[in-house]
Amino acid sequence: MNSALHGIGMTSQRTRTRMIERLREQGIADERVLAAMAAVPRHIFVEEALASRAYEDTALPLGFQQTISQPYVVARMIELLIKGRELGKTLEVGAGCGYQAAVLAMLTKELYAVERIDALLARARKNLAQLRLGNVRLKHADGSLGLPAAAPFDTIIVAAAATSVPPALVEQLSPGGRMMLPLGASAIDGQALCLLQRNDSGIVETRYDAVRFVPLVAGVE
Ligand code: SAH
Repeated sequence: MNSALHGIGMTSQRTRTRMIERLREQGIADERVLAAMAAVPRHIFVEEALASRAYEDTALPLGFQQTISQPYVVARMIELLIKGRELGKTLEVGAGCGYQAAVLAMLTKELYAVERIDALLARARKNLAQLRLGNVRLKHADGSLGLPAAAPFDTIIVAAAATSVPPALVEQLSPGGRMMLPLGASAIDGQALCLLQRNDSGIVETRYDAVRFVPLVAGVE
C-alpha cells in the first residue's frame, strides 16, 4: 500500500483505531462491523481539504449537496442488518463516493451499489479501485427502483431518506431478507432508521435512532 492509503498524522491507523474505540463506547458491539470499519481508510473518501476530519464522528460534505455518512450511523445500520446472520447478497442505494460500500464489501461477497449522480459514482469507482475491492458492482441508476436485474437481495441498505418505503425495494427483498432505510418526511420533521424484515407472515417493521439524511431523489443526473 502507498502512504496516501496508509495515512499519517490525523489520517493514520492510530486515529482510525480511536474512531473504533469511540464506536464501542457508543454501543457498537459486533466485532465483524468494527473490524470492517477499522480496515477501511475513511480519509481517502473525503476531499483532501477535509482529510484531517475524516475520523471525526460526523457527516462531511461530498459536493453535489451530498454528504459522506457519519461513522456511527454507518456502523449502527450495518450492525442491525447483520445481527444473528450474514449480509448475503446486498444492495446499497446511494453509494455517494463509496465509503459505506467499502465497509459493506468487507462483510459480503456480493455487493451491488447504485448512485444517481454520475460524477459521484465516478469517484466511488476510483476510491474503491484504490482499495482493490473486486466484489463491488457499481451502477448509475435510480435506486428507488431497486436493481431488478440482480434481485432478490438478502440485504438492502438505503443511504438517503425516503418519505415512504419504495415498493420496488420491498419486492426485491428475499424471504428472511432485511432492509434498513432512513424514513421520514424531512430533515426538519425528523427521520428515523427503519428496519424491515420479510418473514413468513409478511413484513415486520422496527424503528430505531433519529437520524438526518439527504433525501432520496427520483431519476438520474
Ligand atoms: N453511502 C454514502 C452516503 C452518500 S449520501 C457514504 O458512504 O457516505 C446519499 C447518496 O444517495 C447521495 O450520493 C445521493 O446522490 C444518493 N441518492 C439519492 N437518491 C438516490 C436514488 N434514488 N438512487 C440512487 N442514489 C440516490
